[in-house]
Amino acid sequence: MPYLLQSSTVVTFDPPAVERADLRVAAGRIIERNSAIEPNETEEVVNLNGKLIMPGMVCAHTHLYSALARGMPAPPRAPTNFKEILELIWWRLDRALDEETIYWSAIGGAIDAARAGTTCLFDHHASPSYVGGSLQIVREAIEKIGLRAVLCYEVTDRAGSRGRDHGVGENRAFLRWARHAMNEPSHKAMFRGMVGAHASFTLSDESLDRCAGLMQEFDAGLHIHVAEDECDVVDAQAKYGIGVIERLARHDALSPRTILAHGVHLAEHEIDQAISAGAWFAHNPRSNANNGVGYAPVSKFGQRMVLGTDGIGADMFEEARFAYFKGRDSGSGFTANDWLRVLANNHKLASEIFDVNLGAIDAGCRADLIVLDYRPPTPLTSENLAWHLAFAMNSATVESVMVNGDFIIRDRQATFDEEYLSEQARTAATRLWKKLKSL
Ligand SMILES: [Zn+2]
Repeated sequence: MPYLLQSSTVVTFDPPAVERADLRVAAGRIIERNSAIEPNETEEVVNLNGKLIMPGMVCAHTHLYSALARGMPAPPRAPTNFKEILELIWWRLDRALDEETIYWSAIGGAIDAARAGTTCLFDHHASPSYVGGSLQIVREAIEKIGLRAVLCYEVTDRAGSRGRDHGVGENRAFLRWARHAMNEPSHKAMFRGMVGAHASFTLSDESLDRCAGLMQEFDAGLHIHVAEDECDVVDAQAKYGIGVIERLARHDALSPRTILAHGVHLAEHEIDQAISAGAWFAHNPRSNANNGVGYAPVSKFGQRMVLGTDGIGADMFEEARFAYFKGRDSGSGFTANDWLRVLANNHKLASEIFDVNLGAIDAGCRADLIVLDYRPPTPLTSENLAWHLAFAMNSATVESVMVNGDFIIRDRQATFDEEYLSEQARTAATRLWKKLKSL
């Protein structure tokens, strides 16, 4: 359905801009932007009365498989370090996932994202008891809600070389599917693949080579956790005598499409090496704080930093706000404008992967848009936008969400059956938690 979005306040991040405009949307794109557009008879006119229109948010690192973890029973004992957090919480949870709970977890996470105004997800999936076909299940769930996503499976040696091979095979199968789907003018073009890998400390040289081989074969980037905790760095030094980034470079695993999540404990020369190769650092400040792994050297990540939630929902307003305050508290030197630039990088990354423009609101750009009913008590301008974002704008003001030209939430009403889907997700969560107790 073509739309004429009238009387909106168009807000874009790079450069920061706030401007009254009308937008014409058709066939998944913005086809016209002007101060006043006359309606034609084929389109529906939506009067936004000065409400804000922004590009849909992008989450550059998440784990939909953990969406049913919210409020789950405590682990058998409290973890005392990062490895134990993995072993006692996340590796028990991902092992417990089956065909059904993978789907409902992705549904729950995707609904959360849509409600938060996040229209594109970079997901990092793991379900070692159900590997083959798992990415298609995640895709179906995301498609049901109507989001755009980049999927991959976490390759790891946790379950030996057989488990590793299953992971590599699942990435290959999805990359192959996505390569065909991207040329179709249908909903399938809403997905891309990456090569997923857990982390250096759970990957042998042979496993890293397999991942790098897939990257070459499909011209895809690697999506991997890097130096999230010091244990990753210690492991690479002890086993290979080099740093984590040096190890990835040795295996040809760095590229301009590669996402390195966390990067908390990297030496400066390694950060430089990754940036020279064009890789992106995904900063996940709430997750880092929650796991107590330390504060990432954000000022060193320069122009190649994006923001992720690491599975703590998909609310980029909240993540950016936490990033801002944590940065202030830690003396990072970052201003609100710097974090606005990072959010713009998220759009840049997604635009590069999908080969469309997702960060601007102009004729020719994809119509992944959110409408915010944000009524501040002070003027909102191009100059102070970043401070409105840092201190006040939030996902509760997200009123409508459009992805690829279609509303998936309109005037706070979802086009998917939210009540039913959420109820089904809760039922699946109860079953998953019961299973967890027996593990
Ligand atoms: Zn992660």
